[in-house]
Amino acid sequence: MLDLLKAHFGYDSFRPLQEEIIGNVLSCKDALVLMPTGGGKSLCYQLPALSFSGLTLVVSPLISLMKDQIDALVAKGIAAEFINSTLSSQQIAGVQSRAKKGQVKILYLAPERLALPGFQDFLRTLDVSLLAIDEAHCISEWGHDFRPDYRDLKSLRAIYPQVPVIALTATATEKVREDIVGQLGLRQGQEFVSSFNRPNLTYNVQPKTTAFSKLLTLLRRHQDEATIIYCFSRKETENLVADLSANRFNALPYHAGLDSQIRKQNQDKFIQGEVSIIVATIAFGMGIDKPDIRLVVHYDLPKSVEGYYQETGRAGRDGLAAECVLFYSYGDTRKHHFFIDQIVEGTVRDHALQKLEEVIRFCELRTCRRRYLLEYFGERWEEANCGGCDVCLEATVDYDATEITQKVLSAVIRTGERFGMNHVIDVLRGKRSKRIVALHHDQLTVFGISKNVTGAELKGVVGELLARGLVARNGSEFPTLSVTQAGWAFLNQRENLTLARIQDSLADTAPTDETAAAEPDLGLLEKLRELRKRIADQRGVPTFVIFHDATLQEMALRLPQSHESFSNISGVGPAKLQQYSDEFLAVISAHVQERGLQVPDLGLGRENRHRPSPKAGSKSETISETKKLLLNKLTIAEIARARGLTVSTILSHLERLVAAGEQLDIGYLIPPDGRFSRIKAAFQNAGSQLLAPIKVQLDGEYSYEELRLVRSLLQLQDGDATHLIPS
Ligand code: ADP
Ligand code: ZN
Repeated sequence: MLDLLKAHFGYDSFRPLQEEIIGNVLSCKDALVLMPTGGGKSLCYQLPALSFSGLTLVVSPLISLMKDQIDALVAKGIAAEFINSTLSSQQIAGVQSRAKKGQVKILYLAPERLALPGFQDFLRTLDVSLLAIDEAHCISEWGHDFRPDYRDLKSLRAIYPQVPVIALTATATEKVREDIVGQLGLRQGQEFVSSFNRPNLTYNVQPKTTAFSKLLTLLRRHQDEATIIYCFSRKETENLVADLSANRFNALPYHAGLDSQIRKQNQDKFIQGEVSIIVATIAFGMGIDKPDIRLVVHYDLPKSVEGYYQETGRAGRDGLAAECVLFYSYGDTRKHHFFIDQIVEGTVRDHALQKLEEVIRFCELRTCRRRYLLEYFGERWEEANCGGCDVCLEATVDYDATEITQKVLSAVIRTGERFGMNHVIDVLRGKRSKRIVALHHDQLTVFGISKNVTGAELKGVVGELLARGLVARNGSEFPTLSVTQAGWAFLNQRENLTLARIQDSLADTAPTDETAAAEPDLGLLEKLRELRKRIADQRGVPTFVIFHDATLQEMALRLPQSHESFSNISGVGPAKLQQYSDEFLAVISAHVQERGLQVPDLGLGRENRHRPSPKAGSKSETISETKKLLLNKLTIAEIARARGLTVSTILSHLERLVAAGEQLDIGYLIPPDGRFSRIKAAFQNAGSQLLAPIKVQLDGEYSYEELRLVRSLLQLQDGDATHLIPS
């Protein structure tokens, strides 16, 4: 199996569970495979397909994906074809005749074919060894993506009673799982459930204030990288595209209201890498198998946690770091409620409502978001800090919140439990608005009792009290706050409450730090990307069909200079070796000579020669790697990307360098457009180095990352960084 893996796919080892699953399939047993997106499901039937004598039939609803999948297989030297509605009847006849003659190893089918009587006759003529059902959850009405066509799979099963079936999906709750097994009649069915954790994704929920400028910051950070932005409605999609264009970001819309031709064009441009940003309703994505999506933004709430997991799951399929950011405002739930209210059938409406509430709970979490997602899918997650969600990455300090809690509860009660959060906060802060005066709320004893606390901080407190059940939110359109029984008990029994406040995050939380890898040669990487693009354009295929990003990075790291060492790169199999190695080797050799890099070609990783293996790398080594890249004038994001570390980790390296008194010339990192001076003023104003008050002072407009960067820049100017030295 390993030989086949290397020979056709160019990989050296299996991902978790792949080997077990393939073994199971080869012994002709049925299997149900649950693996997250990017887990490597396809290989579980593609590899056995190569060792079976007959044909492997793959049923997939993702018509728009098939061509790319087939192109990728053909590029690996595998005889694969597909039949779906995008082919002419003549083309279909061609495929059918080749399949009958045994010239096709893997045949992809769209499910709607199965109901056509003539097609079933064709199927009967085939020598089939394996049936693979992709996106198997589509068979279940309990899933979020039921396809009636999938019910016809039973007839397929009946045509080939002896043939093993492998059903695969990336999302399935217990109910859906049972449904798949039942509907497909899986025998001796073994279930393979791999962890749904996606360690290379970070989950981040941001309050939806100044969201557009935050979005621009994100896009700048991911300049030229594939990005999906999800919106709620077609109109919002179009508006956002226009706003982005006005800010010189080239983005294309994708939604069900577009002419299908245009929609296809936009999708193709995105997949081919001609346009890096697509703004979409959730209609987009089922047909996307782009491995190098680096950013997924939810500009509005997803409809369900499953949906969110799947939409974010499209990021980073290649295993490299990718970011998922959701902009949350409770006000946005109104739009969702409006649509849910239109649902006539009671049970369906309740179901939708419950799904939305789960999403709200996710957004308002003050505990690890990864844990919530994994537990949602029935998985246990033991780690205290995942190191990859905003909650875990923000270090917090505990403070005594008893008094502020009493004040908030009192204000809710004194205003009659008939007002929303903003009103209660305005009263607490003593805002003499028309409305407050008209209601005589300026006469209340609670008026202005929290003058010195910022609105943002009070919002945080109310959020905590909601999460802890001391306060409840009632009504959906304009929700009001009320004090729960637990809240009354808190007041009456004079209980104490400790809350966490976000604090300075100097702590080096990034889990990847220990395994910090050597950095690829970025100049070379650029050249390799250009070559790949040129070849892809010539052949009219997406760039990842030629090589994945991860493969190019490894080339730029290992600098192979012979066919042998080139073939050792993960992702290079014999077919690709033969087709592309000469061109890529030429670029690598030219670069090595031009830079005078004296690299003996041992067919080993460069890191094995120049430095100890990455795992053995000490903290000071990893920091000096960062320093080197800073001297090369790379941005923080580029360094993070190149090193496969988080931005936060790179910032902590910078902080340590500054603390150690390094005189770095990093003026090029100064944020533009007056951002630097505004943040600087806030630090001077606060007279403190703590980040949280600055963040609040600036209305949350700047990320912690940017604040940390400016703090370091200021310290470098002042030459005062003593307090930054880690204790
Ligand atoms: P899924 O269908 O589960 O979303 P894919 O089958 O598309 O995932 O695989 C995701 C990516 O991982 C693909 O680019 C694939 O080439 C790659 N991959 C799969 N198996 C391996 C492996 N054993 N080693 C390295 N890369 C792999
Ligand atoms: Zn976490």
